[in-house]
Amino acid sequence: MEHPENSEIYKGLTVNKGIEQPSSVNPYLSLRKKPRRRQYSVGEYVEGIVKGDITILSQAVTLVESLKPEHQAVAQEVIEKCLPYSGNSVRIGISGVPGAGKSTSIDVFGLHVLERGGRLAVLAIDPSSERSKGSILGDKTRMEKLSVHPDAFIRPSPAGGSLGGVARKTRETIILCEAAGFDKIFVETVGVGQSETAVHSMVDFFLLIQLAGTGDELQGIKRGIMEMADGIIINKADGNNIEKAKLAASHFRNALHLFPAPESGWTPEVLTYSGFYNIGVKEIWDMVYRYLNFVKANGYFEYRRNEQAKYWMYETINEHLRDSFYHNPEISDLLAMEEQQVLAGRTTSFAAAKKLLDAYFRK
Ligand code: GDP
Repeated sequence: MEHPENSEIYKGLTVNKGIEQPSSVNPYLSLRKKPRRRQYSVGEYVEGIVKGDITILSQAVTLVESLKPEHQAVAQEVIEKCLPYSGNSVRIGISGVPGAGKSTSIDVFGLHVLERGGRLAVLAIDPSSERSKGSILGDKTRMEKLSVHPDAFIRPSPAGGSLGGVARKTRETIILCEAAGFDKIFVETVGVGQSETAVHSMVDFFLLIQLAGTGDELQGIKRGIMEMADGIIINKADGNNIEKAKLAASHFRNALHLFPAPESGWTPEVLTYSGFYNIGVKEIWDMVYRYLNFVKANGYFEYRRNEQAKYWMYETINEHLRDSFYHNPEISDLLAMEEQQVLAGRTTSFAAAKKLLDAYFRK
């Protein structure tokens, strides 16, 4: 018997014949083609970006980040056409070691600056993305409030390539964002070394997030990074950490006196705040705007932007030359051979380099 429960011996219990259940997967699904992402023309990209269309902006940024030459060609044209619409923004670099409170702070800073209106793009440069093939910097999930704000655009660090390459893509993305009407740009980076130089070369104000605590905070941070900072802010000045944060601030102030006066004529300020409890945030942005007024008045703002434009021209040339050299198949074979020769002591580094360069330029 199919259902023993239906036997006479079980009173008051019957089991109905089951019915056929529909498949839990939509049977028509496989028939439906996945819509291919539409490829826009250069003109359509530019028009969409200038209108402030975020979807088109995101797709254009994807092209900028792409390693495919055909994508790069379109991206470069789009960037060039967007250039006349760019430049009208305040670009802020934000750096700090992991755990310093960058995401927490950017979330709060972002909301603060958006209160005054405008649109904010949060971009990132993370050199470790080269190894991990992805970056968490600038990741939406780390900025809870900003990520759902209609006037914020958050984009993680481009992955892959050299630090110079990653940084160049972020710089190009700034141009696209500005053309799309983003008048505030944050560029986030981890405070561990060279990436600061890259960020410094594309922002108007460089903000360094520090923590108080161990007492040896000054040893831990590289002199070069401190010299780049236009403002140093000590985070987590809350609870029983307030006094320690104030002490750290005075250490930083003293240390800054030892550096040569910055070219801008601005004296970098040191402030304490709490990103988590939103204490002292207004004061930070008052400082940033005070700086901007100062450098716009003395001409340094324009000067720095021009210097940056020049820097990126040379950086781009260097990067392309390097790529063209190392990606040349003939050279890469020869390179491996010459390296062996050098390691075996059969030739010198200089002779090997010259031979490779000669081979490259003879082509
Ligand atoms: P990031 O790695 O630099 O992005 O740092 P996060 O923003 O993720 O912050 C690291 C940790 O510090 C998190 O657990 C935060 O909750 C905490 N944090 C961030 N800002 C503050 C602050 O102002 N005060 C305190 N007490 N904790 C904070």
